Amino acid sequence: MNPFLDLGIRHEVVNAITEMGFEKPSPIQEKAIPVLMTGNDDFVGLAQTGTGKTAAFGLPLLELIDFTQKHPQALVLCPTRELCLQIAKDLEKYAKYMDDVHVVAVYGGANISDQLRQIRRGVQIVVATPGRMLDIIGRKAIDFSNVKYVVLDEADEMLNMGFQEDINNILSETPEIKKTWLFSATMPKEVRRIAQNYMTNPQELTVGTKNTGNENIEHHYYVIKARDKYAAFKRIVDYSTDIFGIVFCRTKIETQEIAEALVRDGYNADSLHGDLSQQQRDKVMKRYRDRSLQLLIATDVAARGIDVNDVTHVINFSLPDEVENYTHRSGRTARAGKTGISLSLVNVKEIGKIRRIEKIIGKQFEKKQIPQATEVIEKQLLAMMNKIHNVEINEEKITPYLPSIMESMQDLSKEDIIKRFASLEFNRFLDYYQNAPDLNADARERDGDRGERGERGERRERSVSKGFTRLFINLGSVDEFSRGDMLGLICDAANISGKSVGKIDMKGVFTFFEVQDADVKKVFDGFQGTEYNGRAVRVEVSGEESRGGARRGGDSGGRRRSGGGDRDRKGGSFRGDRRSSGGFGGERRRSASRSKY
Ligand code: AMP
Repeated sequence: MNPFLDLGIRHEVVNAITEMGFEKPSPIQEKAIPVLMTGNDDFVGLAQTGTGKTAAFGLPLLELIDFTQKHPQALVLCPTRELCLQIAKDLEKYAKYMDDVHVVAVYGGANISDQLRQIRRGVQIVVATPGRMLDIIGRKAIDFSNVKYVVLDEADEMLNMGFQEDINNILSETPEIKKTWLFSATMPKEVRRIAQNYMTNPQELTVGTKNTGNENIEHHYYVIKARDKYAAFKRIVDYSTDIFGIVFCRTKIETQEIAEALVRDGYNADSLHGDLSQQQRDKVMKRYRDRSLQLLIATDVAARGIDVNDVTHVINFSLPDEVENYTHRSGRTARAGKTGISLSLVNVKEIGKIRRIEKIIGKQFEKKQIPQATEVIEKQLLAMMNKIHNVEINEEKITPYLPSIMESMQDLSKEDIIKRFASLEFNRFLDYYQNAPDLNADARERDGDRGERGERGERRERSVSKGFTRLFINLGSVDEFSRGDMLGLICDAANISGKSVGKIDMKGVFTFFEVQDADVKKVFDGFQGTEYNGRAVRVEVSGEESRGGARRGGDSGGRRRSGGGDRDRKGGSFRGDRRSSGGFGGERRRSASRSKY
């Protein structure tokens, strides 16, 4: 008998999840479903993402809710739009063969009227991110008086993102008598406090050891010199021929710089960070999901809730500021029973942080060596030969060309032909890795820090004109600015003359520009609290930011720029006001201090 039937799940649902490939319950499902199916207890489940949490609470909800009624009976709160959509979609899939099940996904950054319409039509399960949920509650557009079950999914993430107050406000709209089920990957004291405040004697369940990462993840670290990081990273990528990875950086600028450098060096990469509009984010995510992107370069905040299966590597290009975040990062790989690698590039001084992470995840890291050029060449060559070996041959289409192909090769032996094919790529690698040094930190000490001769992708030193400071602004050619427009905008905003502005280096979603040292403060003050097309405009000193250094800028006390009127520029509107929280990212960017991400 199907083990899900043993757990009391109805046939229709078992049929649907069998189609989804669920053969037996995952450990969290096995433990949580019997408890939750009774509908009698509050519940705290400590489990990573990717362990099958959604079905652990979703399947019991489908058994407990009265679907003949059309009012909300369950509310699932989760931190991000991606997760919200995923949960709603999964619930609908489990209920594929049930009648009258209505689930609505309520999240920011999308048209609210569609969501309101669905709610009006009648729903039993509301899956929501906190910001948009409060908005809808504020419009008195939903009645939670019949809610019997509240699920707080990824509770630690919601608190990390500053949703504590929103959660309190939302829960105060639900009846006193209800069951609350909380899921969290970690159990910091803030999450504990929620459990204490909102639950009575919750049943607690831990999958794996407390705060322990997924068993299927291998944790590796490489010790390198800070300035070799990029080259070392590329070596690892080149060596891992089937990589499908997420690369974590600490700041938006770092994600952009690395994605740009990778694209320039011929890799298939793009960045995901908080400055992108929802539409841009969706586009990047679609490409990643479709695997047209091989490397997704992301900040912690932007990557929250990313739910893509088969990620082979999580790469910590920079370790997270908060060691707790390491668990969230590494949990993006080894989902649904697969294996994965979470690797970190660190300098000698950061080894202590690795030890702290080991304590948190309860697992040891393995120290690895950056592959040598010869190893990479061998690996790439074999991968290529493998590809040739396994290529699908379209007999029909190639046949007409075969006689002339054969003729052109007739003077060559089989060995010669193979050698030539291999050399096509081999010569490129040889060229590419010519004089490539050993990048491991200890070797670099030994060889006296010889330069990175030959290896491609050496970072170009940027020369800044004397007496000028190089600044970053998060507007670029995608905003349909020309260099002249940008000059005008800077001069207008800072009230300085064009002579004060030096080189302007326009990029896709951002621009570097030079300003005379004496006018830097004017620029910061001028752009303080401004927005362009609903996006908060951000100006930073470029070098400082990319090193994760402190942010500079006029005063941060929410001053409005003087004369703050609207300006139109090529159809885009520049607002000299502080951004309202209703627009894009309102949910995600509560506090200015997070805007680096
Ligand atoms: P979740 O932790 O709910 O995001 O689930 C992670 C992935 O595991 C999703 O792709 C699910 O469809 C899949 N999954 C969940 N439960 C099972 C199961 N019992 N058997 C196989 N796959 C599952």
